[in-house]
Amino acid sequence: MLEFQAASDSLAGQIILVTGAGAGIGRAAALKYAECGATVILLGKTVKKLEAVYDEIETAGYAKPAIVPLDLKGATEQNYRDMADTIQEQFGKLNGLLHNASLLGALGPFEHIDISSLEDVLKVNVTAQVMLTKALLPLMRKSDSASIIFTSSGAGRNGRAYWGPYAFSKFATEGMMQVLADECEGTNIRVNSINPGATRTGMRAQAYPGEDPMTLKTPEEIMPSYAYLMCSDSKDVNGKELNAQ
Ligand code: NDP
Repeated sequence: MLEFQAASDSLAGQIILVTGAGAGIGRAAALKYAECGATVILLGKTVKKLEAVYDEIETAGYAKPAIVPLDLKGATEQNYRDMADTIQEQFGKLNGLLHNASLLGALGPFEHIDISSLEDVLKVNVTAQVMLTKALLPLMRKSDSASIIFTSSGAGRNGRAYWGPYAFSKFATEGMMQVLADECEGTNIRVNSINPGATRTGMRAQAYPGEDPMTLKTPEEIMPSYAYLMCSDSKDVNGKELNAQ
């Protein structure tokens, strides 16, 4: 997938929401979509980081983005419904949703899994994605064509020792993608997942503190799959599990 090149106007006029847009892969995806002409809605926990991405997009002269500060751990269904109403009022539609934000949680042996931190990981990585998708589906149905991307992981495709709650949540993410893709088959909405592969970000450094980050691909280098699944080139691709590397 690393060879796909999106045209600079391939997302012109599109409205795309990216979760976890303030750092790492989400930041790179927000910038990529803006570079391709989209108006990007930047959702994340830390407002300062979202503002920095907002400024980068403005400075580059791309379409003016929007910021949605939201902590996925505490957000309620009503928060998501209110957000959908605001997007409806401001933009009238939504063409793209990148579920990118995730919590790594603690890694360690199964017997050591702390139930309250398991619940946090499942809330951010699974329940929040369900609530966000539920709230936004009606808006996406109004678009000519819409794309939902879930972010998976190698740990969500093969069970791996000590990856605990994070791995459970990523298996659930793939399951959610498959269920929704099947429901959306033949409609204007396509639903797929991407496994980014080892990428130079804060989360990767937290999981592998001894690793040399310079040996890893940067978020910018793995953007071709993210661009491909948002662009019309993938119009007929539904229910697929892609690898960005
Ligand atoms: P980062 O930790 O660099 O970024 C994660 C983003 O998610 C941050 O913007 C963070 O916001 C946001 N986030 C975390 N918790 C919440 C929350 N409660 N509410 C709102 N936003 C939140 O991670 P990556 O860029 O590495 O990861 C992006 C995706 O890619 C994740 O789904 C991850 O599981 C997946 N992935 C990454 C791999 C890698 O090697 N990097 C490999 C496989 C999968 P804030 O900074 O404000 O906390």
